[in-house]
Amino acid sequence: MNSVDKIFAPALDLDNRLADALTWEHGGRLWPSSEQQTLTCCRVVDETHDIKSFEFRTADGLPVRFEPGQFMTVSASVNGQSVERCYTISSPPTRPFLVSITVKRVPGGTMSNWLHDNMKPGRELRAYGPSGTFTPTAAPATKSLYLSAGSGVTPLMSMTRASIDLGLNRDVIFIHSARTPADIVFREELSRLAKLSPRLRVFFVCEGVGDEADWDGPIGRLSLQLLSQWAPDYLEREVFTCGPAGYMNAVRGLLLEGGHDPARYHQESFDIGAGVAPEPAPAVKEADGACGTFTVKLSRSAKSFTMSATDTVLSAAKKAGVAVASSCSQGVCGTCKTKLLEGSVDMKHNGGIRDREVQKGFRLLCCSRPTSDLVLEL
Ligand SMILES: Cc1cc2nc3c(=O)[nH]c(=O)nc-3n(C[C@H](O)[C@H](O)[C@H](O)COP(=O)(O)OP(=O)(O)OC[C@H]3O[C@@H](n4cnc5c(N)ncnc54)[C@H](O)[C@@H]3O)c2cc1C
Repeated sequence: MNSVDKIFAPALDLDNRLADALTWEHGGRLWPSSEQQTLTCCRVVDETHDIKSFEFRTADGLPVRFEPGQFMTVSASVNGQSVERCYTISSPPTRPFLVSITVKRVPGGTMSNWLHDNMKPGRELRAYGPSGTFTPTAAPATKSLYLSAGSGVTPLMSMTRASIDLGLNRDVIFIHSARTPADIVFREELSRLAKLSPRLRVFFVCEGVGDEADWDGPIGRLSLQLLSQWAPDYLEREVFTCGPAGYMNAVRGLLLEGGHDPARYHQESFDIGAGVAPEPAPAVKEADGACGTFTVKLSRSAKSFTMSATDTVLSAAKKAGVAVASSCSQGVCGTCKTKLLEGSVDMKHNGGIRDREVQKGFRLLCCSRPTSDLVLEL
């Protein structure tokens, strides 16, 4: 064992235990991210004035296997339109019989308002299986720093709940930012978990006091000074961040300014289009197909359509009336992952697909442009 292995051995051991515990055979059935299931709502919890948690069980009542930090893509018919959105599973995989999502009501937002207004115990929701790479097992560490804002608390909450359930006593500093104390999601539970695990330290920072005049925590936004006070060893910590794009840009800037190693920074973006720059369409060369158009054949439905080389396969499929499950359209969420049986594409994703899936022939249609005729497993 070399010196690096020695330093990371305890963390790897913890994370291997976490990984083992999460994939243990009786710990839940594999639910592929390409497969839809019907979930039944069993409980709705008001977390704050605009955030609710919805707890679901599977139709057959069997447990679900996932990693903390992963999300599901839920699907509903809203005003006659099929709508799909990603929501992180806020419950831990250590309680696999129920999966919960914690949803912030977005003004004017289609799915979040529909869920808040319609999802009640007994109602059903279609969802694709868990997906995503924002998980602690992907980046083993002896010490972690969790930074969240608003509903971005959800993946970090699942990670925290899982490690407490497993008795892992991981060294985690969890700093959550909120508008006011009343907006702090999971405030009581996080404070209680911190009491259960001495190596979990939880801090809240609020932009204003709101109705809680006796709030004795700091007021303002997370600063380098506050970070150094609460996590003096932050340079040694693996950082996991989730929140609105503006928050994550600010946090990333702070960490870079403080000298944190960007390779040890991991983030999950909920803001589709805000945090991720869309990939510009490449210039079409004369050699690309006839006038830069290609034919796409679908193996299961035996349909086919032609498309321009400048278009993404997802958008061309939708224009051709082909139903493809999708959500973010930015190569983040992985909902449109599809096997490419023949041909080649230029894919520019943003973390929504793993290397081993690419090696197995899968591609994200939302960020793939054809470079030849294609056959897709659809
Ligand atoms: C991996 C991942 C995990 C996520 N996890 C969570 C989670 O745990 N909790 C959570 O709350 N959210 C989460 N999200 C965000 C979630 O997927 C949705 O984006 C969010 O709930 C908003 O969806 P919506 O349908 O309500 O809003 P949308 O209908 O998508 O609208 C979003 C915004 O666009 C505006 N808008 C809509 N239509 C128009 C239009 N035609 N013109 C101009 N503006 C318009 C709306 O007013 C609103 O402000 C996650 C996202 C990702 C990618």
